[in-house]
Amino acid sequence: MWPTLNAGGICRDDPDGGDGLVSCQTDNAEVYYYMDSGGKYELESPDRTIVINMLRDEYAPTALARHYDSSPVFSGDGETDIIYQEGSTNISSSSDGVTWCNDAYDNQRCDQQYIRIRGNGYYTPGVSCHETGHAVGLTHGRQASPMLSQTDSRLGCMQTPTAFGTGLGASNRENINATY
Ligand SMILES: [Zn+2]
Repeated sequence: MWPTLNAGGICRDDPDGGDGLVSCQTDNAEVYYYMDSGGKYELESPDRTIVINMLRDEYAPTALARHYDSSPVFSGDGETDIIYQEGSTNISSSSDGVTWCNDAYDNQRCDQQYIRIRGNGYYTPGVSCHETGHAVGLTHGRQASPMLSQTDSRLGCMQTPTAFGTGLGASNRENINATY
């Protein structure tokens, strides 16, 4: 769980996902999420199903409660926690997706995070689990403490590259439950 001995810094705002930092926790255990519908970053029906099932299968067995927010809030103190988008704007060529904080709550926690994943087959259970992991503070192996290989199987869906159907590993769940 970020911050670790191998990944410090502070949680900060990034307007549109271009800075490459994925370092924040979410601001509480009640996670409200929204999936863009209509517009440039809309998730199509199969992608929406993947996100819903992934949250049920991987995150329901953790301390995080998940709520779909059909009336998302984009300003003020209680913003919708995670906004899922499909698109490729500001995703580096070596990545399938990006997660960023739009409104830091304090140095460690973010009020609203965006997850953007490429279209055309990239919205997989594994990649959506991975980016959701970043949104709640999980790290890659290289940033973990102790440091692990990027492909250590204990990282579950936080391995890079991220295989199609990987889910949270036991240590991911322990980290989440120790934090929230
Ligand atoms: Zn990642």
